[in-house]
Amino acid sequence: MTLLFTLLVLPCHSRLFADALVVVANGKSDYVIALSGQSRDLAKLNEAATLLQSSIKKATGVELLVVKESNASADADAIYLGKTAAAKRAGLPIQKVTGWGYLNRVVDRNIYLIGEEERARPLKPRQQGYSGFSGTYKAVTTFLEQQVGVRFVLPGEVGIHVPELKRLAIDATMDVSWSPRFTFIGRRVSPYSGKHEYDPYAIANNFFGRYASDSRVFWTGGSHTWSEFVPREKYIETRPDYFGLFEGKRDPLRRNILCLSQSEVHDLLVKGVVKKFDEGYQMVMLGQADGYVECQCDKCQAIHPDVGEKLWIKHRQIAERIRALRPEKQVVLSSYVTTTKPPLSFDSFPENVVIMNNRYSPAYFKAWKAFPTPRVVYIPDWLRSWPRVPPRYAVNLVRLWKENNVIAVYMGGGLDQPGCSWGLNGPSYYTFGKAMEDPSRGADELEREFIEASFGAAAEPMGAFFRAMHRRMEARQLLDRHETGNPDRRYRGFPFEMYPDDYLCHFFPPQILNEMDRQLARAQERAQSDETRARIELVAAEFRYLQSVATVHHMFRAYQVAPSWTLFDALQKQVRGHAKIYDWLHPNGKALNPGGYRKLRTPFNIGWPCNDALKKVTGPPFDWDFEKIRQSGDLPVPVIKPRIRGGQSLKPYESKGAPGNSKTDGNNPNDPETGAPFDQ
Ligand SMILES: [Zn+2]
Repeated sequence: MTLLFTLLVLPCHSRLFADALVVVANGKSDYVIALSGQSRDLAKLNEAATLLQSSIKKATGVELLVVKESNASADADAIYLGKTAAAKRAGLPIQKVTGWGYLNRVVDRNIYLIGEEERARPLKPRQQGYSGFSGTYKAVTTFLEQQVGVRFVLPGEVGIHVPELKRLAIDATMDVSWSPRFTFIGRRVSPYSGKHEYDPYAIANNFFGRYASDSRVFWTGGSHTWSEFVPREKYIETRPDYFGLFEGKRDPLRRNILCLSQSEVHDLLVKGVVKKFDEGYQMVMLGQADGYVECQCDKCQAIHPDVGEKLWIKHRQIAERIRALRPEKQVVLSSYVTTTKPPLSFDSFPENVVIMNNRYSPAYFKAWKAFPTPRVVYIPDWLRSWPRVPPRYAVNLVRLWKENNVIAVYMGGGLDQPGCSWGLNGPSYYTFGKAMEDPSRGADELEREFIEASFGAAAEPMGAFFRAMHRRMEARQLLDRHETGNPDRRYRGFPFEMYPDDYLCHFFPPQILNEMDRQLARAQERAQSDETRARIELVAAEFRYLQSVATVHHMFRAYQVAPSWTLFDALQKQVRGHAKIYDWLHPNGKALNPGGYRKLRTPFNIGWPCNDALKKVTGPPFDWDFEKIRQSGDLPVPVIKPRIRGGQSLKPYESKGAPGNSKTDGNNPNDPETGAPFDQ
């Protein structure tokens, strides 16, 4: 602990190792960087070498030469990258290092950073891409973190923190190996990974997927794969009976909803999944159409009275047929909306089934305990929503996944999307990524690591700024989407954010906003480097926006309990202030990118509930015409309706006597506007 503390507070020094190997001293180095000639993707190996070379140069001022292994002199000291002949000669178990895994070891005076490469297949229309991998690149980011003190805090070069070192001495007993605990699937993390394929931030923090499939592990097909296997465009004219019957007509919804009782439909689903296996994928998604509702034909109605159970029964049968054909491969079934809850009419899945869960609270994992399949978690708008995932929550979730046999994390479109937040969510993204690498590391330690590296001399106030926000936000997991005893099988837990102001007013009360404001001002005074100032600017821009929206909401609450012209005037002033902040963040109609982080996505276009991109905040009082109201002479008395999320397309469930369902099924009051159970 003392050692760690010393390392954090002394700005310019070499790291301390009991048995040290000197790589750079007195402005000189005996080392070269020597590359394997054997990689399946030499370009990636070169990128890894460039990152190592530039980081050591930035730290020490000394540039190591990069050479091919075959050109390196046999008696020179070298940092060997990849599966080199030298590593083989040194007796290192290079054949055991695969995928994103690595082995970093010192033998005599040589440093071996060992991994292997595979090329990506780019995403094309009608053809899903998959990410390649480079274990050597991961070996390099780990070496830089552990031995040089580099931290990858934001995407791109501006996000790499490199400490200044007069002397670089590494641990002469270094011997670390690693392989991923999760397959991560999630498109790209930033535009940097689009251009270079490898954004060092993404690799260092374990966001490995660039395309929507990570290597050839998992074909996701966007998760709703009925349309791939039984495409509506192909069959609607010749076989309209393949598609759902609604009020006497086939396919009026045009949503690729299948008639589940047709055996020819099953044949096509089996064939489609097997075809994907034969293209090389290990796991293939078999997922119902988005917005699935049940086909009303007599045969489908006879499968089971419950809308979700029909899917479980039929998808299970299809998985069994697939198992007979390709027993070594896995079918991924979707637990989503109508299938969120586990099956009722059977008690086990065939061995080739993996379940993709899109709810992953402890309660849901408990409910699924009876079905101990491997799992994929689907987290499309989890980290992307702004800001809502404190580091402790992120780490706890990763640990929960580990305990519940989660093998892959599917993040939909990744982190390079409108709404992603690199300022206020920075510590959470970092902590989540690092927890995926090693779930035993504590959230507080990781948060501190991020803050020290990101904010330097302003770390103390920035730490206080983030702690104020995170300690408050930790309560969110206690509030959101928990079971309330609603027996409807389609019920997905109660959404905390029923009213537009719920989220910001609860998590950002005036006390928290004021404390964050105060700490930010202290941090701005203390910042010493351009790097630190830029990062604070990024955080501050996001905070100013959030603060302005929250403040309007707070004032509007006061107005609602005690309407008066005084409060009306104050509210108008506050809404104007918010509009100014909005305009400041949108110079020339485009979102501002503060701190020089031009390429990062920002959350500024986002209204409530934090993921509705490209819109201003709407609803009273943001869109009130204050002047007109004042002229009318009548104070407005707003009626704010609760916003009910999900379930809009569900019709009341009226079937009785379904196995396992309680007698109250079908008797829940339904919202007349949405048709959903009242508390959905
Ligand atoms: Zn049908």
